[in-house]
Amino acid sequence: MPRIFVMSNVCTCCDDDGQWLGECLGCWEDNLDYLNELVDCKGYWHVDAEQIGWRNYSGELTFEAENAEEWINHIVGFKCEWTFCISVISENKTSIVAKVYHHDSPTGESRYIRRLTDEEWDKLTLEEYE
Ligand SMILES: [Zn+2]
Repeated sequence: MPRIFVMSNVCTCCDDDGQWLGECLGCWEDNLDYLNELVDCKGYWHVDAEQIGWRNYSGELTFEAENAEEWINHIVGFKCEWTFCISVISENKTSIVAKVYHHDSPTGESRYIRRLTDEEWDKLTLEEYE
């Protein structure tokens, strides 16, 4: 799979020889900015997750994101060290295929991400109160 975008929640700031600098020069914020340019994160989203952890279970989540940081935290769904990798983005940015790598999933968990329309979101959130 091609890698359109890769980011990690562990600082990757290195010098020219690839040695970790021991401090972050802002890669997290830079990556969030770039992610937001790619995906246009603000809005309503649905994510299907597969091959989660060593038990290989699956799950889904509907969420609203105000910005790229909220978006990535919902998509990844846990706090330990992770690397997030987008392989497909549809031209209209409504559908995204990605993987999350971490110590329990060295081969990666799949994330199938879809932007919801206002109508779909209203319908889903109304159903919760029925
Ligand atoms: Zn950094």
